[in-house]
Amino acid sequence: MKLLVTSLVLALTIASAQAMPNTKRTLTFDANVEAPLKTQMLSDLAFLGSVKSTKTSPLHLKVFGQVDGAVYADWFGSRIYSIGKNDCGSANAVACVIPYINSNKMWVTKNYTQFDHPQVARVSVTYHEARHSETQNGNWSHATCPTPFKDANGNDMKSIWTGALLQGQPACDVTAFGSYGSATILLKNIAMNCSNCNSKVKADADIFGNDQINRIIDANSKAAMKADFGMRK
Ligand SMILES: [Zn+2]
Repeated sequence: MKLLVTSLVLALTIASAQAMPNTKRTLTFDANVEAPLKTQMLSDLAFLGSVKSTKTSPLHLKVFGQVDGAVYADWFGSRIYSIGKNDCGSANAVACVIPYINSNKMWVTKNYTQFDHPQVARVSVTYHEARHSETQNGNWSHATCPTPFKDANGNDMKSIWTGALLQGQPACDVTAFGSYGSATILLKNIAMNCSNCNSKVKADADIFGNDQINRIIDANSKAAMKADFGMRK
């Protein structure tokens, strides 16, 4: 009899968990994710989960909702359920989602760990990857960067993360709503609107946001983003 009650309780627990798929899911880490990396990622996510603001740009409202830690935590938690390590098929990759394996799993490469980039930049990478989890949007696959691909000063565009040349790489987007666009919208809103971030965090967010917007290669999409951020054309 006692056994029967235990199985019934278990069955009820499973049914209620299935009824609420996105609530308070625990992020899991593969066994080969080193403890310091796991701690760092959890602390990065906790930082974004603590953000406060009274202002949000229109594009941010469309992609994420309000600039608010709880909104960010829900957004990320309903997209990425687990973290693993992978080379992501390229020496230049920093992180990836591999939809044919699992659209809700984010993988990080050695490039994620071997550079000492600011916390807000790291967390923007995890949000970039979370956008790739959206199977209903074709996982927001990237566009190929032009060849040549030059900045406003005529220099070759390079990854701010690894220094890799971007021309001809699948490392650009046409839309403002893909992974590069949404991570840029996140960074610029932290820079502009976070009310409890210190000046270093806001400056870092601005530097990385101003870099990532250049991955948007459609002039109209880029202009719409600049207008959203109050940037000069
Ligand atoms: Zn991507």
